[in-house]
Amino acid sequence: MSAVAEPAALGIPEGLFVDGAWEPAAPGATFTVEDPATGETIATVADAGPEDGVRALEAAVAAQPAWAATAPRERSELLRRAFEAIHAERDRIARLITLEMGKPLAEAHAEIDYGAEFFRWYAEEAVRHQGDNRLSPDGASRLLVARRPVGPCLLITPWNFPLAMATRKVGAALAAGCTVVLKPAAQTPLTTLVVTDLLRRAGLPAGVVNVVTTKDAGGVCEPLLADGRIRKLSFTGSTPVGRHLISLCGPQVVRPSMELGGNAPFIVLADADVDRAVDGAMIAKMRNIGQACTAANRFLVEAPVAEEFTAKLTERMGALRLGHGLEPETEVGPLIDEAASRRLTGLIEDAVARGATVRTGGGPVDGPGHFFAPTVLDGVDPDARVAREEIFGPVAPVITVADADEAIRRANDTEYGLVSYLYTRDTERALRLAAALETGMVGLNRGLVSNAAAPFGGIKHSGLGREGGREGIDDYLDIQYVSLDA
Ligand code: NAP
Repeated sequence: MSAVAEPAALGIPEGLFVDGAWEPAAPGATFTVEDPATGETIATVADAGPEDGVRALEAAVAAQPAWAATAPRERSELLRRAFEAIHAERDRIARLITLEMGKPLAEAHAEIDYGAEFFRWYAEEAVRHQGDNRLSPDGASRLLVARRPVGPCLLITPWNFPLAMATRKVGAALAAGCTVVLKPAAQTPLTTLVVTDLLRRAGLPAGVVNVVTTKDAGGVCEPLLADGRIRKLSFTGSTPVGRHLISLCGPQVVRPSMELGGNAPFIVLADADVDRAVDGAMIAKMRNIGQACTAANRFLVEAPVAEEFTAKLTERMGALRLGHGLEPETEVGPLIDEAASRRLTGLIEDAVARGATVRTGGGPVDGPGHFFAPTVLDGVDPDARVAREEIFGPVAPVITVADADEAIRRANDTEYGLVSYLYTRDTERALRLAAALETGMVGLNRGLVSNAAAPFGGIKHSGLGREGGREGIDDYLDIQYVSLDA
């Protein structure tokens, strides 16, 4: 599992990005970023303090009127150039994603294709978010409805998709005419720094995007929400942090968009194509080493196919090759950190204490880095922690259900509501069951729902608002209506 790191060749810009320029870190105000596969330091980045956050906010506030006044086509072409720049540097960025986050290189490439697409998609949407002109029903007045940028935004991203979570927010905000302060996750800030520099080289005006890397997320971000000049927060991360940030949006009536945690049910009914379901399960469970909000968290399998599905899943999971993500044969990289590994071990121990059987895997793998054996658990108690909490790792608990009604009832028995997966050959029944699932998204005979053209998001404790699709720009726009005599 040796690293093949070439950090010097990765061209990571240094410092904070404020008002269009890279500012070197103040002496001693830095932190390190580690390769989770080896524990080795990849790079040192600036550690912003609260005063840096305020300077970033001031730059965003100052740039807001001019940016809102730019022609939509100009904003569109900036995003389009940035989309092309990401693709031109695809290999360099993919290596960087793998180094700082751990996912295998092929998955890093897939993240680039997915993430860059948000720039292309919003380059196209930037020129389409028009208002309209209506006649009041009594014919007495005209109603001119215009959409305009909400104002400076605070964008906070998690570590699991360092490129896509940033482009998904920045693309929509810039297309709408909003300026931003972006705070990437402390564990994976490097990709964001590189993408920011690509935007700068593509012609980004000063102050439109400001990036603060910090080890003190609350200390930097919370004052910005209290300041009154940030008009919108877009957060992707865990439900507990999201809930806390929603409460901080109240006093200044900051508009929150929240992409939070999940507990996705993966339902396999007796009439499903089991091989296709196993293929989908491998994607829904193992994409990003299981560290995705959309990851299948509970496999609810109808009794007649439960053993066949579990046996086939066990064989596929047990055969996966672990290693450093830069090595070409690697299929599964490391977990992000030691705490994640300990948490998964605790979930497995709890499930086994409640009667589950470990069919493959079961714990961490010896050696440097935070590697964890892909695990299948059978006979899992639906009340076990592994079925109730977000797993965020390569552990697949299988619960046998008597019929579709029980599957739906158990699927909805969670505070989360991001995505469900459903496998059945009966399309009519599938659509009826999909309507009964309390999630923002449903994968029907498919283990992947992420797509820049789709309205991605959850209900219940999984979030507020949508990202991507035509809907994704709405969160960054206010509506003003002007009334005049007809
Ligand atoms: P997290 O701990 O909630 O952190 C997310 C981001 O919030 C990080 O940038 C973090 O900074 C920052 N943060 C933490 N406390 C904060 C505070 N008090 N004020 C402002 N910012 C704060 O989540 P994570 O572990 O990075 O990501 C995993 C979670 O994200 C999972 O629950 C996953 O389901 C969710 N997720 C959801 C989606 C979706 O679209 N629904 C997509 C991806 C991930 P630091 O890095 O410095 O802690």
